[in-house]
Amino acid sequence: MLFKNYMEEAVETTLEEVLARKDDVCKCDRCKMDIKALALNNLPPKYVVTDIGYVYTKANELAAQFKTDITVAITNALKTVSKNPRH
Ligand SMILES: [Zn+2]
Repeated sequence: MLFKNYMEEAVETTLEEVLARKDDVCKCDRCKMDIKALALNNLPPKYVVTDIGYVYTKANELAAQFKTDITVAITNALKTVSKNPRH
């Protein structure tokens, strides 16, 4: 069994989608990690116990459910990081 914060996977998936649509932002690992950390700090954690392999499916369900909140948190984090990149 696995103890997991689904929100992490949801943010990861959504971040890739948001970045794929943007050409004017840095996509280096440092900036992506900073955006992810900032976004996660502004989203409620969703801890669950699950089977390995089930996490991704469940994360997608969660992402759909909270898509708007996640996208807003990522967009805000992206603005903050773009203004003051640490790479
Ligand atoms: Zn960067």
